[in-house]
Amino acid sequence: MSESPRVLSIQSHVVSGYVGNKSATFPLQLLGFEVDFINSVQFCNHTGYKKVAGQVLTEKDLDDLALGLEANNLDLYSHLLTGYIGAASFLTRICALVKHLKDVNPSLTYVCDPVMGDNGRMYVPADLLPIYKSSILPLADIITPNQYEVELLTDMKINNVEEAWKAVDFLHSKGPKIVVVSSTELGNNEHLLALASKRQGNSCEKVTIRVPKLSGSFTGTGDLFAALFLAWMHKTGNNLKESLEKTVSTLQAVLKRTIESARGEVTPRAKELKLIQSKKDIENPTIVASASVV
Ligand code: ATP
Ligand code: PLP
Ligand code: MG
Ligand code: MG
Repeated sequence: MSESPRVLSIQSHVVSGYVGNKSATFPLQLLGFEVDFINSVQFCNHTGYKKVAGQVLTEKDLDDLALGLEANNLDLYSHLLTGYIGAASFLTRICALVKHLKDVNPSLTYVCDPVMGDNGRMYVPADLLPIYKSSILPLADIITPNQYEVELLTDMKINNVEEAWKAVDFLHSKGPKIVVVSSTELGNNEHLLALASKRQGNSCEKVTIRVPKLSGSFTGTGDLFAALFLAWMHKTGNNLKESLEKTVSTLQAVLKRTIESARGEVTPRAKELKLIQSKKDIENPTIVASASVV
């Protein structure tokens, strides 16, 4: 294995703006990772703009790339990161790829953001859900669902923190050693609540963090969250509390800069994450939210 950690990131590419691989690659590189990225789609911009044009990678295209990497022994990765996936056939091919990459490197960490929806609405085809449940969960080491995605994956409704932990424990029982619920509505008017749990033997280390709510809604933040969490778990030797604090604090800095720079304008363009301008905050986040051990 080479000295630097090496991530294979399979996510969307947008020509303009920051979601998917455009949101994940720069922060991972800044934090010392080699990043090999496969673009599951190439769109002109994210789906919040009035027009979206571009190409979709098929599972055959993915196969070609994976087999080419394998033929040249370029398939030794420390991490695999997947985010938004729009077709069941593509997700099924990802399952085979995870198995292959884990054969090549048995200590590979697979970080899966099971992007399916938000706020009670599914925005991927419904046939992805059974594949996430039965095939992806057993392969994933770290998952970063939001509250709605936890409900979909567990068939459990979450009304309070206790129910959230029950659902998290259920997810652990399906495979992932680390479960992070990146955002829930279990906070209050001022805070979102995020929860994280690491299974250790028969017990779990559990932490929560109150995320100060910032006004507006943003795109690419879930993808940025997953990439930063992957990076900080690696860099801290799997310190759950520190990784969550650094991830959330970086997001706060990026979003505050984005809001300042938008100066009240609410167009998709004005709200694109100010990632490049946040280089120093990504490299060395000032902790603005502290996590509590439960
Ligand atoms: P995904 O859909 O990718 O599974 P998600 O729905 O949790 O994940 P987001 O809602 O973008 O993704 O939240 C991810 C993180 O982004 C949160 O943990 C928080 O740190 C930050 N974030 C996003 N929007 C806001 C906001 N309005 N105020 C404060 N933090 C925010
Ligand atoms: N990929 C594409 C092409 C998108 O359009 C979006 C959101 O619009 C995303 C990924 C995910 O963004 P987020 O990180 O906010 O969930
Ligand atoms: Mg959300
Ligand atoms: Mg998302």
